[in-house]
Amino acid sequence: MTAPTATPPIWSATVLTLFPEMFPGPLGQSLAGRALKDGLWSLDCVNIRDHATDKHRTVDDTPFGGGPGMVMRPDVVMQALDAATSGWNADKIASVPKIYFSPRGRRLDQAKIRDLAAHDHVIMVCGRYEGLDQRVIDHAGLEEISIGDVVLSGGELPAIMTMDAVVRLLPGVMGNAEAHQNDSFENGLLEHALYTQPRDWQGMQVPEILTSGDHGKIAQWRQTESEAITQARRPDLWVEYIKASSKTPAGDDENDA
Ligand code: SAM
Repeated sequence: MTAPTATPPIWSATVLTLFPEMFPGPLGQSLAGRALKDGLWSLDCVNIRDHATDKHRTVDDTPFGGGPGMVMRPDVVMQALDAATSGWNADKIASVPKIYFSPRGRRLDQAKIRDLAAHDHVIMVCGRYEGLDQRVIDHAGLEEISIGDVVLSGGELPAIMTMDAVVRLLPGVMGNAEAHQNDSFENGLLEHALYTQPRDWQGMQVPEILTSGDHGKIAQWRQTESEAITQARRPDLWVEYIKASSKTPAGDDENDA
């Protein structure tokens, strides 16, 4: 799905799915789409069904122990994973993050996105039906990642979300290299309020400080706003931020105790 380029992509994703036609989907547009065309990242889809071995191309079966729904077979998913990593040496297979999207997983956050962006390749397995047989999760060392406390019908949208979040961090993807440094979560806080033209809209004014041209005061206003909004909306982040701030050399140094 990537135009041939002289230089290899900075980051590659391999997605195992029963619905390869869902890709690149939204990732073919805007920032991610341009970066894909420019070869800054690459995307390969492996159709799990291509690795079924019977004439009906079966990928799922009923759950042992009974219950509703179907479970994805470990042998078929493992074949697909082996195909995705064929030709790789054992070190590369071991070091590449291998994710299985699952509501039971660790919640996806910006720290995890930064970690994935720091690798050069990520493999993502999209579940369908009731999910994967536990044995392939264990055998392949798949890390379960959830996009939140909701149940979707498949892992394809979580994979698209993850790739979108990673790609915007890759060097050369955003016009301004610092653009994401003020984003929510980058420094443990939510972003401050944003304003643009017109200055007076429906009788509501842009805060005066933002039009003052005083960059020091603007930075201070934004910091105060970010702290206030984080404290009000995300007490969990606020607690972590306070803890982290008190560990910085500028704050109380725990090592002094
Ligand atoms: N039976 C599973 C459970 O209760 O945890 C839900 C299976 S769901 C219908 C089918 C697939 O969608 C999952 O295997 C997973 O790949 C994906 N999925 C659904 N919700 C998700 C979430 N919150 N985060 C990540 N993946 C999710």
